[in-house]
Amino acid sequence: MSIIQQIVKLQGIDSKLQEIEELLGDLPGKVDNLKLQESELIKSVTDGKVRIKELELELNKFDSQMDDYNVKIDKHKDQLFLVTTNKQYDALQREIDHLKSELDEIETKSLEFTEEKEHLEKRVISEEENLENLSNDLIIRRKKLEVIMSESSKEKSKLELEKENKRLQIDSKTLSNYDLIQNARQGLSVVNVNGSACGGCGAFVPPQIISEVRAQKGTQTCDSCSRFLYWETI
Ligand SMILES: [Zn+2]
Repeated sequence: MSIIQQIVKLQGIDSKLQEIEELLGDLPGKVDNLKLQESELIKSVTDGKVRIKELELELNKFDSQMDDYNVKIDKHKDQLFLVTTNKQYDALQREIDHLKSELDEIETKSLEFTEEKEHLEKRVISEEENLENLSNDLIIRRKKLEVIMSESSKEKSKLELEKENKRLQIDSKTLSNYDLIQNARQGLSVVNVNGSACGGCGAFVPPQIISEVRAQKGTQTCDSCSRFLYWETI
C-alpha cells in the first residue's frame, strides 16, 4: 500500500470518528436543558402550591374577621335606636363608619388574595401539564441517547484501535503534517484532484503534480490549502 493510500485510510477512520461525534452532537446538551426546564417547573409548581395554601389560610382568616365586623356593625346599628342624645348617636355612628371602613379594607384584601389564588391555580395546572409532557420527552430522549451512546462507544473503540494501528504504519513526519492539516482544515487532510483543481479548495494543481499524484509517488500537497492530494481511483 502506498503512503498516500495509508493516509486516505487514516482519513477514512478519522472521518468516521467525526461522524460519531456529530451523531452524538447536542443530544446530551438537549437532555441537560430539558432536565433544567423540568427542575425549574417542579420548583415553580411547588412554590405555587405553597403560596396557594398560605392564601387559603389568609382568606379563611379574612372570612372570620368579616363575620366579626358584620356582627359588631349590626350590634351598633341596633344600639342607634336605644341612644337618647345626639352626642351618643354621633359617637355610635362614627364607630359604625370606622368599622365599615376597616371591613372595606379586609374585603379589598380578600378580593386581591382570591384573584391571586385563582391566577396561581391556573398557572399550577398548566405547569403540571407541561411538566408531564416534558418528563415524557425527557424519558424518550434519554433512552435515545443511551442507545446511541452504547452503539457509538462500541464503534468508537473499534475505530480508535484501527486508527492506532494505521498510524503505526505511517512515518512520523507525514503523520505530523497530517495532524497539522487536520487541525487547520476542520478534520479533512486528504482530498482528491478534480480535473486540474484541488478537491478541497479548488486551487489549480499543475499537470506535473497531478501525474505524480496519479503515480502515487510519495506525497503531494496542494500549494494553496496544504492538503494531501490523491487520485480518485484509490
Ligand atoms: Zn487545496
